[in-house]
Amino acid sequence: MPRKETSDPIPKDLYDILACPVDKADVKYTKDKTGLQCQKCKYVYPIKEGIPIMLPPQMQEKQ
Ligand SMILES: [Zn+2]
Repeated sequence: MPRKETSDPIPKDLYDILACPVDKADVKYTKDKTGLQCQKCKYVYPIKEGIPIMLPPQMQEKQ
């Protein structure tokens, strides 16, 4: 069940400290805000139910 629609899926203070686990570069929302994209390697980390899944690509592939 979706919660009240807000502009951002994750809290700003959390968003501000998030970084790509591979290269520690900043991540930013994708256009539809369903994911976070690294500004360096361009990998997109999914956001699931308001929680960013910040796993390196090779770890996500194993599951
Ligand atoms: Zn990266």
